[in-house]
Amino acid sequence: MGTIIDGKAIGAVVREEVKQGAAAFAARSGRPPGLSVVLVGEDPASVVYTRNKEKAALEAGIAGTLHRLPASTSEEALLALLRQLNDDPRVDGILVQLPLPRHIRPEAVLDAIDPAKDVDGFHPVNAGLLSSGRPGLVPCTPAGCMRLLREAGVPLRGARAVVVGRSNIVGKPMAQLLLAESATVTIAHSQTRDLAALCREADVLVAAVGRPRMIQGSWVRPGAAVIDVGINRDDSGKLVGDVDFDAALPAAGCITPVPGGVGPMTIAMLLANTLRAADARLR
Ligand code: NAP
Repeated sequence: MGTIIDGKAIGAVVREEVKQGAAAFAARSGRPPGLSVVLVGEDPASVVYTRNKEKAALEAGIAGTLHRLPASTSEEALLALLRQLNDDPRVDGILVQLPLPRHIRPEAVLDAIDPAKDVDGFHPVNAGLLSSGRPGLVPCTPAGCMRLLREAGVPLRGARAVVVGRSNIVGKPMAQLLLAESATVTIAHSQTRDLAALCREADVLVAAVGRPRMIQGSWVRPGAAVIDVGINRDDSGKLVGDVDFDAALPAAGCITPVPGGVGPMTIAMLLANTLRAADARLR
């Protein structure tokens, strides 16, 4: 029976670390670290996410500011706000909540954020630094997964890792981070042949697909570490991951639940990134 990795508890530890770091930053610089969260439109999930980010920032001693813009905001007006935030010395981190309304090009927006303030780690400069093995701002969800693996004591050097999903937000950066820890990494996606057999080879299995309970218990190698990034609703409306948790638990060495696994780490790592960006700008 696998150990359940408690993302809520580990996320709380990260937030406490950030709180202490933010206090130290404020003592040195005379101001708290600043995080600007930009929301365009009224997407209900995005409204909740951005409010939670602002609230979590304030609780950690970070000056969180939520900029709410109407769905009709033009791309040019949004870019103008980003230029203003880039130039504002009190702002250390900038995050634009996705998805954006259809008339705004997400690439144009992500590219307009100063890479030094890009706390989501989605700017091509930060993606390039990550794939070059150089320090930069790392996307929050995969950074959170790595912290979970570390806290669970999962050995990564030489381990066989399979990441299911190749998005720029999760799958690709996750694979880069595992590679940087000297795991042997395979990235799987919708065109991968015999995914079940591939997953069975994994000492570390990361699921970032967006399909409820797609990864079956029999796909899990005995003793494997299973990190479930998925957040889905099943047919009955229940929140479930990409892994069939009940079926995978007996085989896994350790496994993250949904909810309470990767989810709580994402905001915690956003706060950690904001502190990192602030400290780097102070130097
Ligand atoms: P995404 O951009 O939709 O990417 C999904 C990936 O899964 C794609 O690479 C896709 O392959 C692959 N895929 C789809 N169907 C597949 C199949 N049948 N077999 C193998 N691979 C398949 O999603 P995302 O943004 O990476 O998010 C993935 C999941 O994580 C979602 O449930 C999302 O809600 C969740 N998420 C959670 C957090 C958190 O904080 N916990 C943060 C971000 C995302 P192709 O590239 O070939 O299409």
